[in-house]
Amino acid sequence: QSFKELGVCSELVEACDNLGWKAPTRIQMEAIPHAIQGSDIIGLAQTGSGKTAAFALPILQALLQAPQPFFACVLSPTRELAIQISEQFEALGSGIGVKCAVLVGGVAQTDQSIALAKRPHIVVATPGRLIDHLSNTKGFTLRMLKYLVLDEADRLLNEDFEKSLDEILNVIPRERKTYLFSATMTKKVKKLQRACLRNPVKIEA
Ligand code: AMP
Repeated sequence: QSFKELGVCSELVEACDNLGWKAPTRIQMEAIPHAIQGSDIIGLAQTGSGKTAAFALPILQALLQAPQPFFACVLSPTRELAIQISEQFEALGSGIGVKCAVLVGGVAQTDQSIALAKRPHIVVATPGRLIDHLSNTKGFTLRMLKYLVLDEADRLLNEDFEKSLDEILNVIPRERKTYLFSATMTKKVKKLQRACLRNPVKIEA
């Protein structure tokens, strides 16, 4: 199967071609058609499986249809992963003018606030720093958010981000799509799934 056969639009098929991606990975084959049709997704997948593009492509496709700032927020347990995710959004979205901001700890908030003032489409963040910006950065809100991604959810929960996650869930719309990816399906992940997702399609790769 090709990206096109999964329902990916021509602009994004071209972006995949430009990255030298010959065919979708297994998780992409399983997730993308459901995601494009509007389902929430719970994906059991490891790093290296191509999971980032499995959620990035459907989000970018929806963004193309109705562009707006603060369209999607991806939560990551670590700074390194957040940077990698943002790089993939930028690589796939460069031809269509996608703007991303990365909000992670360990660096000054100022540059991140400047990035937020440019009203990016995609925000990739660690939960603690996202909360900091929601309270401190004027004009930054997730009230219009359309997509939430919880990446490496098992690690998000291990790193004691539970309280931050609750706070974030309280300030984003209930009417949204949610994708949850995790390497393991623990009790805590199942609880998070019940709190965040609606009739999700479950995918394993
Ligand atoms: P991930 O599992 O999302 O961290 O992706 C692992 C690596 O696979 C990343 O460097 C991607 O650029 C690459 N990748 C993702 N999808 C594909 C694909 N369909 N074909 C080849 N490489 C891919």
